[in-house]
Order: sequence, then C-alpha cells, then structure tokens
Amino acid sequence: MTLEVTARCPGCDASLPFDASDPPSAIRCGKCNRGIPVRVSDALRQDTAVDRCPVCDGGDFYVRKDFDPRTGLAFVVAGAVISAIFYFFDKDLIAYGVLAGAVLIDLLIYRRLNDVTVCYRCHAEFRGGYPRTAGPFDLHTADVLEPEWQRKIGKR
Ligand SMILES: [Zn+2]
Ligand SMILES: [Zn+2]
Repeated sequence: MTLEVTARCPGCDASLPFDASDPPSAIRCGKCNRGIPVRVSDALRQDTAVDRCPVCDGGDFYVRKDFDPRTGLAFVVAGAVISAIFYFFDKDLIAYGVLAGAVLIDLLIYRRLNDVTVCYRCHAEFRGGYPRTAGPFDLHTADVLEPEWQRKIGKR
C-alpha cells in the first residue's frame, strides 16, 4: 500500500493529491497555478508513519474517520424507498426488515472506513496503511496552529 497525500492549496484551498512513494519536489495547483514545494519524509515515502507534513513542515496531526456522508445517505434513502413499497402492499414486516437492513449496511460501511490523518496547520490529508498514532481533533490545538500557518502563507 502506498501513502497518498492530499495537500490543500494555500491560495485557493483546492485538493491536490499526490503519491508519497514517488513524490514530486513541488506541486502546482491546477486551479490558481500556485507552486507548492513539498518535502516528503522517509517514513511517509515508505508508508510507515506520518511524522512530518510535506507541505507546511508541521508535526502535529489529528485522526478522523474518512467518511463521505453522501454514500451513507444514499443507502438509507434507497432502503426507505424499498421499504415504503413493501409497506404500501401491506407487507409491514418485510418493510421494517429492509429498513433495518439498510441501516445495518450503513453501519458496516462506516465501521470499515479507514481513519485519515490530517495536518492541523495546512489541512493536508494522509491515506495509507501506516499505523494511526495521532489523537482525535482538538479545537484548542487547531486554534493555536492554524493561524501560525495562515500567517506563514500570508492569509492573516
Ligand atoms: Zn490553488
Ligand atoms: Zn501541513
């Protein structure tokens, strides 16, 4: 498994994914044409740990679920529609069964989702097979570290 980094453009906030096993020395934002130098650590290259952010050089990260809410919602909506059809034909039990099944599938998908590591400063995301060592999101840490990066890129 290789580690994929999704950098955030400091200029326009666009998502810029690149492969950490064979990283470029700089990436260019396709939207605003800003050049962003990247320095990928050995641990990132080998997908063993997220130790240093290649974009902002920061070493503070948090872990969150890599969840796309739209996928989950689609399942529940589909389940509700199917169960409404059974309900209409007086098959209450089947209707409830289908609805419960949709919710269950939703839960299974959520549990199978990987955690993604996120950089506090520049919001770069790290997806790979490395062990997650960072803690959950801490608002106080973000309040301290985010402005530091924004000053650095001239947003404040
Ligand atoms: Zn940009
Ligand atoms: Zn960063």
